[in-house]
Amino acid sequence: MIMDCSQYVGPCSCGKDHELETKMVVVEYDALSRFEEYMAAVGLGDKRRTVVYDSNIYALTEGKHVKADQEIVLPAKGLRSEDVLIEAMMKDLDKPEVIVAFGAGTIMDFGRYPAYKLGIPFVAIPTLASSDGFTASICSVILNGQKKSIRMKAPALVVTDLDIIKGAPLRLVSSGVNDILAKYISLVDWKIATLVSGEDYCPMVAGLAQEALDIMRAAADKMAATGEVDHEAMTMAQMKSGLTMQLWSDSRAASGAEHLMAHLVEMKPPRFEKAEGIHGECVGVGTFACVKEYHRLAKLRPTARAFEPLTGDWVKEKFGERLYDGIMKENANDVLGTFDPQNIVDHWDEIVTLIDTIPSVEEMEALYKGCGCKYLPEHIGIDPALESEMLDISAAIRNRLTLIRMKRVLDFGE
Ligand SMILES: [Zn+2]
Ligand SMILES: [Zn+2]
Repeated sequence: MIMDCSQYVGPCSCGKDHELETKMVVVEYDALSRFEEYMAAVGLGDKRRTVVYDSNIYALTEGKHVKADQEIVLPAKGLRSEDVLIEAMMKDLDKPEVIVAFGAGTIMDFGRYPAYKLGIPFVAIPTLASSDGFTASICSVILNGQKKSIRMKAPALVVTDLDIIKGAPLRLVSSGVNDILAKYISLVDWKIATLVSGEDYCPMVAGLAQEALDIMRAAADKMAATGEVDHEAMTMAQMKSGLTMQLWSDSRAASGAEHLMAHLVEMKPPRFEKAEGIHGECVGVGTFACVKEYHRLAKLRPTARAFEPLTGDWVKEKFGERLYDGIMKENANDVLGTFDPQNIVDHWDEIVTLIDTIPSVEEMEALYKGCGCKYLPEHIGIDPALESEMLDISAAIRNRLTLIRMKRVLDFGE
């Protein structure tokens, strides 16, 4: 399947003029045999190119390598997205006009970071489709020793060869399913936030995320029923979801309360030190906890409570000294203080209708089991006793309006 991305670009009913750096996304079997055609189609065919691999991928994809003016093969051992490593590689670049990154997530950052710094395009050849980051412009990189998610460059062209993707271990396939089923929560969070706080919203961007979700849901149903993995559908779902982050210049459509679980696991606050899992697995645990909590809340009727900022004591208790400053800073201009909590109460019936679009707890659990997904706290090293608290704690990690964060200004009489 080949997606021409120009259909999403331009003036929109939401009032924005949407832009995309990504012009074309190819998701096909044997796609790399036609790589030169795709490069030419996006106007990069005759540009001087550097192709970057890591040593593992280079060996594994023997016979699939693409033409290069310069090839860089980075040692796979110890490779991570870190400024010093990327900048060291940049010293070896031989005046490229385009950088092609061939590999998994880490290698992508060795394309998007230098391309951004040099002001040249970057092309992605993902060898995995376990998350939706490939078509996004976000670079998750260690800068000055601190892990940061910052906007850099999105790929001008993405060429995914399903003959490579289909070799991915099942664990990564399941993780990819999780990353997209998360949109059941992230989309509802965005719509609720728009209802109660007037936050900007785009039906086209939300629609694209919904499309990704529908494609993945159909593929997940098939996988649960027959064990068959539809790599083409699953990969396309990841690509579409990633594009929403470029179109909206923000991950709003793709990441709500559930995604914060992945950040929690990475940050490892007190009592979560043993938490461990790949991105989609952590997101799956967050999603299932939210599915349970949202349906539970939908049966109740809240009253409004005055907004109060998070206290230093609470933050210290839940996050410890090491993370205290960062969390306090993130919550300094708490989005909860920007609208009247009574709005949530006044819109509660509409909120319940939105929650009703989320599959039931039983349906989600059956789907997760059928696709071999991780979805319970103990699957990623979190004590199940921390389940209800983990949502409240993770909601403080990012100043984004989600239903979980809204609980701080609601009284459910419990
Ligand atoms: Zn729009
Ligand atoms: Zn994700």
